[in-house]
Amino acid sequence: MLSHLTEKPLASWRGKDHHNGRILETLTVIFRSGGCSWNRCRMCGYRHERYADLSGDELAERIIRQVRWVKKNFPDDDYQMVKVFTSGSFFDPMEVPPIARDAVAEAFRGKALIVETRPEYVEADPVREFRDAIDTGTLAMPLTIAMGLETTNDLIREKSIDKGFTYADFLRATEIAHASGAGVKAYLMMKPPFLTEREARDDMIHSIMDLAPLVESISMNLCTVQSRTELERLWREHAYRPPYLWSVLDVLIQSPVHILCDPVGGGQMRGPHNCGACDGQIVKGIVDYSLNKDVGLLRALAEMECECKEEWKFVLEQEEPHCMPLTR
Ligand code: SF4
Ligand SMILES: [Zn+2]
Repeated sequence: MLSHLTEKPLASWRGKDHHNGRILETLTVIFRSGGCSWNRCRMCGYRHERYADLSGDELAERIIRQVRWVKKNFPDDDYQMVKVFTSGSFFDPMEVPPIARDAVAEAFRGKALIVETRPEYVEADPVREFRDAIDTGTLAMPLTIAMGLETTNDLIREKSIDKGFTYADFLRATEIAHASGAGVKAYLMMKPPFLTEREARDDMIHSIMDLAPLVESISMNLCTVQSRTELERLWREHAYRPPYLWSVLDVLIQSPVHILCDPVGGGQMRGPHNCGACDGQIVKGIVDYSLNKDVGLLRALAEMECECKEEWKFVLEQEEPHCMPLTR
């Protein structure tokens, strides 16, 4: 007998997003999956969210139940784009069995899909098959592969994040995705641990410059302190501070291309923050810019006066790196 059981995903919400020159009604879903195969990035709390010890068939069934739940709870006509996260890699067959991947394709056929994965799982056949399965011929680019590159600097990715892949790996995956008819969205991470405010800002500017000609879109995540992470331990020891919102404005204003940026946790101690008095306005401005590309608004915010601006300038100039040894 066919099962009709449903199961609520880890999270799901409606919103609006800029995509390929249009503002689309979007649905974001974070499916619970078999979990990230890498499972060790210093700032990542999502990796704890996984089904443990399920067989491949059971795992597929549990993911398919979540797809059913989403279809039941969000009317099809209400959204044009779906952003799929799995707290890991959608194209890792051990994490999302191919049969569950097929169920996602069937459920969201005709929509623009953005699916997140590590670059080592971007292979031509599965990407092309998935793309063809969602494509109804109405969209120029039905599938976008999102990858958490975090920075184009291999040393920072290795030392500050422990990400486990190189920029060359990302470029290889980007080529395969493009050759398979998919777009690429790169996620950057502003201010992972062990960087000064200035290094973090400069790293984002360099990374954006590197990526702008190569990918369809760039999204900059602002590092937040999630619970049960190595970053949280550093933060508790006063060895880490999330980025200033002033630095975020600085990066976005200097970028030659539009950057998607959702300042999650903005204004909170565990998220990107200034002094508390000016945070709300800047967070709102970044959200607005992300949707309507209004750089003028960011410039006006950057001109705004607040007591903490001097503090930020001092930190930018005076903070020195706590070096990690390069060798043992
Ligand atoms: S950031 Fe991504 S790759 Fe790193 S542990 Fe978390 S889910 Fe895995
Ligand atoms: Zn302030």
